[in-house]
Amino acid sequence: MKKVLSVVVSVYNEEQALPAFYETTRPILESLPWDYELLFVDDGSRDRSLSILEEMAEENSRVKVISFSRNFGHEAAMIAGLDYSTGDGVVCMDADLQHPPECLPRIIRAFEEGNEVISMVRTRNKSAGLIKNITSSGFYWLINCISDVHFEPNASDFFAVSRSVAEVLKGNYREKVRFLRGYVQNVGFQKTTLEYEAGVRVAGESKYSLKKLFIFSVNTILCFSNMPLKLGIYAGILSGAAGMAVLVYTLFTRQGAPSGYATIVVLI
Ligand code: UDP
Ligand code: MG
Repeated sequence: MKKVLSVVVSVYNEEQALPAFYETTRPILESLPWDYELLFVDDGSRDRSLSILEEMAEENSRVKVISFSRNFGHEAAMIAGLDYSTGDGVVCMDADLQHPPECLPRIIRAFEEGNEVISMVRTRNKSAGLIKNITSSGFYWLINCISDVHFEPNASDFFAVSRSVAEVLKGNYREKVRFLRGYVQNVGFQKTTLEYEAGVRVAGESKYSLKKLFIFSVNTILCFSNMPLKLGIYAGILSGAAGMAVLVYTLFTRQGAPSGYATIVVLI
């Protein structure tokens, strides 16, 4: 029996990109040596994305649609896709063609060579501006400094995992705040890295504002490092010790100070 590749695509307000995505990806999927299922996760889109997806599913039985009641974010969409995927291999990709479906045959080959985690590394991001590049490098530098696990700076949400890795991710990585590409790189198993060039978004606009990215980065740092917690504890101990020093100093030098001064300082 042919193996099956599950392709998980998260979709948030992508009515403009979806038709192009489907037209480009479908022939590639059909030419693969494996069967496929195309699993779209609609992350609470408020445009026509869901009805476009439903039309595709009606016309092609290999297309499946999961629909969220509201926007939960890209990470939640990928986890839902992993949960419902049934294939022997699972690929997560974006709906805007920035993750080129032309890479799928290479991914299948990597699976057939025995790899279980295939991490797609961007060699170039045609659409990222200077600010996005600088903030992204800064983020990876910081998290690699303070976290025990290593993060590949140019890894993206474009990756593929085998059925057994998908089961591990499903069972053991259910935190509410997640960074799936971080887990994928640190889950173990035989791993390989393939390179790709991120194209420009085919249509529509990026759904990630700098503010969203900032919140996401802070959450990730808090998830993967206990350095912020330690810093808080050390700062507490230090300021406590400094307070005690001032207290002792005030008690010993209070002669001559206005009345009530020592009481106030000690209380503070
Ligand atoms: N996306 C999502 N939920 C969100 C934001 C984005 O499912 O809350 C999807 C989006 O439709 C796209 C992918 O995640 O398929 C990546 O988003 P985008 O292209 O906007 O991010 P960028 O490539 O600019 O980092
Ligand atoms: Mg994009």
